Amino acid sequence: MKPHYDVAIIGAGPGGSTTASYLAKAGARVLLVDKSNFPRDKTCGDALSPNALKIMGDLGLLDALKKFGYRLNGVRLVAPDGSTMVAPIPPKAGLADYLYIAPRYQLDNLLLQRAIDAGVDFEPNFWVRDVKTEGDGITLHGGGRSTSRHFSARGGVIAVGAAIPLLKKTGLMPPTPKFAVATRAYYENLTGLDDIMEIRFDGAPLPGYGWVFPTSPTSANVGAGFLKKSPSLPTTARGVFDAFLEHGPIKERMANSTCVSAIKSYPLRMDFSTARTFSDRLVLVGEAAGLVNPFTGEGIDYAMESGQIAAQVLIDQLESGDLSFSALRAYDKKLRARFQSVFVWTMRMRNLYMNDWLLNPLIRAANKESYVERTVLEVLLSYRNAIQALSPRTIYHVLRNFF
Ligand SMILES: Cc1cc2nc3c(=O)[nH]c(=O)nc-3n(C[C@H](O)[C@H](O)[C@H](O)COP(=O)(O)OP(=O)(O)OC[C@H]3O[C@@H](n4cnc5c(N)ncnc54)[C@H](O)[C@@H]3O)c2cc1C
Repeated sequence: MKPHYDVAIIGAGPGGSTTASYLAKAGARVLLVDKSNFPRDKTCGDALSPNALKIMGDLGLLDALKKFGYRLNGVRLVAPDGSTMVAPIPPKAGLADYLYIAPRYQLDNLLLQRAIDAGVDFEPNFWVRDVKTEGDGITLHGGGRSTSRHFSARGGVIAVGAAIPLLKKTGLMPPTPKFAVATRAYYENLTGLDDIMEIRFDGAPLPGYGWVFPTSPTSANVGAGFLKKSPSLPTTARGVFDAFLEHGPIKERMANSTCVSAIKSYPLRMDFSTARTFSDRLVLVGEAAGLVNPFTGEGIDYAMESGQIAAQVLIDQLESGDLSFSALRAYDKKLRARFQSVFVWTMRMRNLYMNDWLLNPLIRAANKESYVERTVLEVLLSYRNAIQALSPRTIYHVLRNFF
């Protein structure tokens, strides 16, 4: 029997919905399914980088985003010893010189509605339990808790985020998955907020950080996350988050605040450099391909960018009628050309700098030397390869600020 859809996409986060929009815009028949009903929450810091804003613009969603998002114009980095660097978002041709904090409850629904408007069929409350490759297509097997249904398509996109059961079932788990974990909640009535994204290395175990991302002049998304590298570190993200709220400067500013959401924890998968990204008739997009920045935890832009790349490759392959394993290698090639060295070098940078010894002088140097400030910001925003943070010139300034 002929498959019903050209492409079936599993997961309606930023990765799945962006892929769906671009595929439908190019004329493909697309099914998008998610285990949740929308709008739904997603545990996140909600920060959209200039690269993410570029894709939002390309999808025609910037005006809608501005209605619920909150614009931030700079970044504050606080070192473990309290040394602080504050700087505006550096300009880059074609990109905004600001960020947006956009609660995922609204952001993900906006991206989904964009896909539906482009002609995508959306199936909520559909938990995919398995994907089978059969003949000239794939079949999604799943449904609700006690129901079972099937959908067929010529090819598929797995965009399930950090959830791994489906990757295990389909044999697409990476050999060495790497997870960080983070907790966040929304607060009102904080003091001392400005139009700056605050990242603090002084109240959370390294490698990791706590954050205060304002959502208005008096409210914020507050969170903390860490990579559990050593058994001596606290065991849960919630423990790290609770300690961050008790940390002096944060405690003071939150003294009269009210928590207005559930406090939620969720993993972040950051192993793209060794991850599987495709198989016969299937590609993996966003965090399902380990696409979360190992230093910053940014994943929304990477999910959207990989969705854009996946849609281009799938459109070409649908036209040529070849969605085989060897044909879809083209997706892996394009994805690695865009992200492989970002990941390899960002990981090295994290391994070198995410300790008291070097993070303190790095942030002190960034506070004094405009070259270091720009390098740090441009690496964090993925404008420059992290190799720049390891250049002799940067190391020289770091060493000069050691004491
Ligand atoms: C606490 C925290 C803070 C973060 N802060 C930031 C930040 O500030 N900025 C940033 O850029 N990134 C941040 N990230 C990372 C970012 O949230 C993710 O990388 C991003 O959401 C990945 O998008 P995605 O589309 O790949 O997956 P997701 O957004 O996770 O979407 C996956 C979707 O798949 C669905 N799904 C899963 N399994 C199935 C299944 N079997 N069947 C059907 N549906 C399924 C889920 O319901 C979900 O809707 C943060 C992450 C965490 C945990």
